[in-house]
Amino acid sequence: MIDSHAHLADQAFEGDLDAVVARARAVPLAGILCIVDPSDEDEARRASGVLALWDAIRTTSGVHPHRAAAFAAAPDAAAQLADARLAADPLVRAVGEVGLDYHYDFAPRAAQRAVFAAQIGLAVDRRLPLVVHTRDADDDTIALLRGEGGGRARGVFHCFSGGADLARRALDLGFHLSFSGIVSFPKAGAVREAAALVPLDRILVETDCPYLAPVPHRGTRNEPARVRDVVRALADIRGEDPETVAAATAANYRELFAP
Ligand SMILES: [Zn+2]
Ligand SMILES: [Zn+2]
Repeated sequence: MIDSHAHLADQAFEGDLDAVVARARAVPLAGILCIVDPSDEDEARRASGVLALWDAIRTTSGVHPHRAAAFAAAPDAAAQLADARLAADPLVRAVGEVGLDYHYDFAPRAAQRAVFAAQIGLAVDRRLPLVVHTRDADDDTIALLRGEGGGRARGVFHCFSGGADLARRALDLGFHLSFSGIVSFPKAGAVREAAALVPLDRILVETDCPYLAPVPHRGTRNEPARVRDVVRALADIRGEDPETVAAATAANYRELFAP
């Protein structure tokens, strides 16, 4: 079992990170992908401490759409920043999380699109997978991945919150889908419908911690150990054994992000 998306370098874990990682290892998890935004200097600094804690932790580099406004005048600078972290840390396995968030709209949409496009180009150039964040922006996300990626972009739609239609379009593009604790939320019927149709060799699991604690922990700080609740919920939806889902999602993670 592997948590394919955890913000372990978030401030929320500063006080007890070693205990959080120890609980993950006790589950046992076989790995964690720690998401890092190089434009957040505090987070990037904390990330080296996270990676030193356990040799099964890998990391990413990408400017989040929420932070795209700072790069509105020079979107390529976001890709250059992400690239500098790639070059500096051999444990970086993906460009992300990058994408579009039209739900919160924390940055102007034109800036989000330009910053996302530049980082799709980086991922293709460096032959790395993308960790894609998309919210209420299905059409633009698919169009940019197809256009900028030129058929060579691959990766994962993380914390999948769309329905069956977006799931099919992402799968058609060759992408994987990663599911979080959202699959256990009462109102997430459309997400469960999507989770049921994804082929077993294209599915990943994640916590997106410290956010999105699954039922029955909703509203508390989430952590990687709880990816086991996501696996259980997903297995239930798909009518598969939790062991099958745990093994397949771990194998898919390794294939996508390399060991
Ligand atoms: Zn996200
Ligand atoms: Zn995230």
